[in-house]
Amino acid sequence: MKSLRKYWGYVVAIVVVYGWFSGSLGPNILVVLSAIAFLYSLFQAPVWCCAETRKEEFCRNNASGILMGCWIREHRWQKLKWFVRKSAWGQLIKRLLSGFNGIAASFSAVGALVSAGAAVITLMVKTV
Ligand SMILES: [Zn+2]
Repeated sequence: MKSLRKYWGYVVAIVVVYGWFSGSLGPNILVVLSAIAFLYSLFQAPVWCCAETRKEEFCRNNASGILMGCWIREHRWQKLKWFVRKSAWGQLIKRLLSGFNGIAASFSAVGALVSAGAAVITLMVKTV
């Protein structure tokens, strides 16, 4: 049960994928679920912190979400600064993709964003 509490956002992501392929969920529900899965990846999914340590390695402490750092306050600031600087994104993504949880969180973030966009477009097309 503990792992379910930690990984619940992926369950939502799976429901979204199922909804798209089965066509059983309306686009309005898909928008909401995709947004939830996206926010989960950014703020809750278990990933490595990935901030840079003094030894010029990256921090492998547990963090919650791609956007957040670990318990070290300095790392959280560092990551916030990174998101403002687009040039640092590549490095962060490379680090995230070196761990399984990071891969899962990154893919679900991108997938949820695409899914939310597609659902919004579907809604707009329908109402025209
Ligand atoms: Zn850290």
